[in-house]
Amino acid sequence: MNVARTDFPLLAAQPSLVYLDSAATAQKPRAVLDAIRDYYETTNANPHRGAYRLSGAATEAYHGARRDIARFLGAADADALIFTRGTTEALNLLATAWGHAHVHRGDRVVVTRLEHHANFVPWQQLARAVGAEFRICEMTHDGQVDLDQLRLLVTANTRVVAFGHVSNALGTINDVTDIVKIAHTAGAMAFCDGAQGAPHLRVDFDALGVDAYAFSGHKMLGPMGIGGVVARRSLLEATPPYQYGGDMIEYVFDGDTTFNVLPHKFEAGTPNVEGAVGLAAAVRYLDGLGMDAVRAHEVSLTRYALQQLATIDGLHVQGPATAEARSGVVSFTLGDIHPHDLSTMLDVDGVCVRAGHHCAQPLMRALRVNATVRASFYVYNTPADVDALVASLRKAKVRFGAHAG
Ligand code: PLP
Repeated sequence: MNVARTDFPLLAAQPSLVYLDSAATAQKPRAVLDAIRDYYETTNANPHRGAYRLSGAATEAYHGARRDIARFLGAADADALIFTRGTTEALNLLATAWGHAHVHRGDRVVVTRLEHHANFVPWQQLARAVGAEFRICEMTHDGQVDLDQLRLLVTANTRVVAFGHVSNALGTINDVTDIVKIAHTAGAMAFCDGAQGAPHLRVDFDALGVDAYAFSGHKMLGPMGIGGVVARRSLLEATPPYQYGGDMIEYVFDGDTTFNVLPHKFEAGTPNVEGAVGLAAAVRYLDGLGMDAVRAHEVSLTRYALQQLATIDGLHVQGPATAEARSGVVSFTLGDIHPHDLSTMLDVDGVCVRAGHHCAQPLMRALRVNATVRASFYVYNTPADVDALVASLRKAKVRFGAHAG
């Protein structure tokens, strides 16, 4: 795959920057920035509210973006794609609005050890609030969800199995089909956190069989502040509104209110049209590259990174052994150097990596580490970026001496 660094203004302006933190947020191609600018220069008005043509054009821009993004995610029913600020808000919507209506005392809610806090805490707090049982499915030694344990945990009283498509901390790609089968056999809902799936893997929502799939635009080349959830229509129809206000109502009487149809029922207030338009431009860009080519590029970079990192004594990579079993994420520790110190040293060489618990404290506890360094790759990264990471790690190793293991 051939992605020009010049497509990405920030990377073009800083040629020596080695950006290896796309799992946190991706850089934006010019096409996304142009789409946002063009929207404001030609189409901006408050959608849904005006009879004038400009407002009609803004409405079309917003819903046209929804159709493009739904198509990208393999969802035929575009009105069952609800825009939110991102994955966190989408998962909170499910846990709060669907959860409080459908999960009761004595029910069971199951998450996995690999979850980001955004797909852990909302379910934990739901369970606490309604008196349901909250259970965590552990992982195998190589960072995969333990499906044998999941089969035992998902009992007839289980209402929810919440799991990530891809782990942000280890890169593990979960077997969605198997997890969905386990959930549905027991009559539970399968809710998938796709924050790290949608940017890197071809997603076919209708074929995956999950009941809802949450995503964040900013991790897939789009702007911050936009994302959403695609869900089964019947699930959304059986879910009460999440927030109340303009646009989401049908009739407001003095004593009660009736609610609008999908998707409006879940989109109270003035929507983030620029975000939707920007994200639609991002998915067009990804479509242009082809998601199979994106995946092949990341597998090849990850394989190279795993090979090169294995040449550094004292460096321990967490998670699945092979590049094929993970997305473009490599989490590691080097001796007993604190990951924050290590990432600060890498920054001196212009290498941007993440250090910390990656919003996955329950996972870090299971790994018996406080933190790791995480390098994550995307379409604009090259083997030279891996070389720069490895060279900088070797320098740090010399600098830290005995602590480097
Ligand atoms: N889930 C996973 C797996 C993530 O990696 C992230 C972000 O890092 C989130 C959820 C939360 O996404 P956002 O902060 O865009 O809402």
